[in-house]
Amino acid sequence: MTAAIIDGKAIAAGLRARVADEVARVRRQHQLVPGLAVVLVGNDPASEVYVRSKHTQTQAAGMVSFEHKLPADVTEGELLALIARLNRDSAVHGILVQLPLPKSLHAETIINAIDPAKDVDGLHPSNVGRLAAGMTALSPCTPLGCIILSKSVHASLEGMNAIVIGRSNLVGRPLVQLLLNENATVTIAHSRSRDLAQLCARADLVYAAVGRAEMVRGDWIKPGATVIDVGINRLQGEGGKTRLVGDVAFQEALQVAGAITPVPGGVGQMTVACLLVNTLRAACAIAGLPKPGV
Ligand code: NAP
Repeated sequence: MTAAIIDGKAIAAGLRARVADEVARVRRQHQLVPGLAVVLVGNDPASEVYVRSKHTQTQAAGMVSFEHKLPADVTEGELLALIARLNRDSAVHGILVQLPLPKSLHAETIINAIDPAKDVDGLHPSNVGRLAAGMTALSPCTPLGCIILSKSVHASLEGMNAIVIGRSNLVGRPLVQLLLNENATVTIAHSRSRDLAQLCARADLVYAAVGRAEMVRGDWIKPGATVIDVGINRLQGEGGKTRLVGDVAFQEALQVAGAITPVPGGVGQMTVACLLVNTLRAACAIAGLPKPGV
């Protein structure tokens, strides 16, 4: 039997609809309209696509979207001044600085300047620490999406053996913390890990966040495991066209896993939907309202 395909597109659409309902409710009951400010520095084509999609989806959810496009040669002082202004702006509840930044800017300095209450990317050290301590925190969007996809298959992750391959600040590390908060037993693997195939073979939940095309092979996977593929790798296809593949050899894994996310159409769809969730949560927390229903 082949694995069930986890439909990230449909799950993300459902999540966006629930966010929109909650946005309408807080607007009606509390006259609160969540606002998200996205800052784009330079004109990296991929970043421009992401920012456009965030803008459209924020508006579609009934929230206000503020876009700030700055030239690649903006100084650190100018960018910090904009962030200070957004921190003070009561119409802005979420601030996201699109990464990567041009090399002339120090991402850590910029992220540290964002008010942690508005840090909807969950990258400020205050949120990183709170998440690691099991406290309420704004968590990075892609790992949040991975948890929601996993819970679309398993109502509870408690006691399950999980492996997270990759330990970046953006994906792997926060995902480990979120899994711990779900009471999973977590192994974190990285480029220095030995016997990756054997480590994987024990896991009921496999998360691949490496950035190496089809690295995780079908015979690494425990029969029936749930596989969440975060990787986005562009391969040269036929006729000069490119195609996207994940970090998991999808066709092989499909024969062994119980459930698997496709690339595209899996995790990627969840990231922006979770950004909307974080913006709504931030707006409610800043306004002193209870946590929303998403
Ligand atoms: P990253 O910062 O480059 O981190 C990659 C991680 O993979 C590192 O921890 C690295 O280990 C580990 N690694 C590299 N080679 C390995 C190997 N041979 N065996 C085991 N581990 C290995 O990447 P990232 O930002 O986490 O992104 C990972 C992938 O997810 C990329 O394809 C990216 O495009 C994708 N992504 C997707 C979304 C989405 O919305 N779907 C969002 C973010 C990222 P070391 O720490 O030892 O170097």
